[in-house]
Amino acid sequence: MTWTLIIHGGAGRMERSTMPIERDVAVRQAMNDALAAGSAILDGGGCSLDAVEAAVRLLEDDPHFNAGRGAVLTEHGTIELDAAIMEGTTRRAGAVASVTRTRNPVSLARAVMEHSPHVILIGPGADSFSRAQELEQVDPEWFHTKERTEQLRAMQARDRGAPFDGDVKFGTVGAVACDSQGRLAAGTSTGGLTGKRFGRVGDSPLIGAGTYADDRCCAVSATGSGEFYIRIGVAHEICARVRFLKEPVGRAADAVQAETKALGGDGGVIVVGADGSAAWSFNTPGMFRGVSRAGVVPVVAIYGDE
Ligand code: ASP
Repeated sequence: MTWTLIIHGGAGRMERSTMPIERDVAVRQAMNDALAAGSAILDGGGCSLDAVEAAVRLLEDDPHFNAGRGAVLTEHGTIELDAAIMEGTTRRAGAVASVTRTRNPVSLARAVMEHSPHVILIGPGADSFSRAQELEQVDPEWFHTKERTEQLRAMQARDRGAPFDGDVKFGTVGAVACDSQGRLAAGTSTGGLTGKRFGRVGDSPLIGAGTYADDRCCAVSATGSGEFYIRIGVAHEICARVRFLKEPVGRAADAVQAETKALGGDGGVIVVGADGSAAWSFNTPGMFRGVSRAGVVPVVAIYGDE
C-alpha cells in the first residue's frame, strides 16, 4: 500500500540563530504528532480527506501555530479564523472565513462541504452553521495566547502604518495527502496575518488560492502573504501546470513560487501529486514542514538548509 502525507505549519523568518531550542523541539513534536495522526488513517486504508482533517485539527489545537488556538490577532486584538478543505476526486470543497467560536475550523469547512449546498460561509453565518452542525464551540478567549497579544502590541508599536507583520512569520497550517487509492485532498487553516484589518480574508479559505485538490494532477496547501497568493491563484496555478504542462510537482511549485516572489509575495507551498510524489517550495528562510509515506520514517524540518 502506498500513500503520502505532507504538512506545513507556516513559512517565514525561521532561523537557527533566533529560534529558541524549546520552540524548535515543541514544533517538531507537534508536527510529528500531526503526521502520526494522519498516517494512521492512511495506513489503515482510510481516505486522504480524513487524514488531512485529522492532521490539521492537531495543528489547530497546538498554540505554536497560527491556526485555532494560538491564532494571530486582528488590529482590534480579536480572533477571526479562516479554513478550507477540498477533495480531489469529486472536487467538492468547503471553506469558512472570519469564524470566532469553532474550536476546529477545518472541520467546519468540511461540514460546509458535506452538509450545505455552499462552498464558503463567513462570519456570523458560519458561526451559526457551526452551532447547527453541533461542532465544538469555545469561548473566543480559548484561542488567545500571551505570545500573540505581545506580537500584536510589538507590531503596532514598531510597524505603525505598515500593512503586515514586519517579522514575516506565517504560521498557517495545512496538509495534503494521496491515499492508497490515489485520492487527493488538501486542507488549510489560519488566523490570517497579525494586525490584519478586521473583516480581511486571506488566501487560505479561497479555493484555488491557498487550497486546491484535483485527482487529475495534485493537491496544494499554501502559506504566506495571502494577498499575493490570491492574486496569483497559487494553488490552482500549480495544479494547472502539472495537469497541462505535465511538470513534476516540484518544478510546478518552484515556478509558481517564483512568480509570486516576483510580485512581492513571500511564503511557501506543499504539494502532493496523483502519483504520490511530494514537494515543498518556499522563498522564506524557513518553513515548518513534514512528510510521511507508507513504510518510510517521517521527516520534519524547519530551516532552509534541512
Ligand atoms: N496565508 C495566510 C493569510 O494570508 C497567512 C499565513 O500563511 O500564515 O491569511
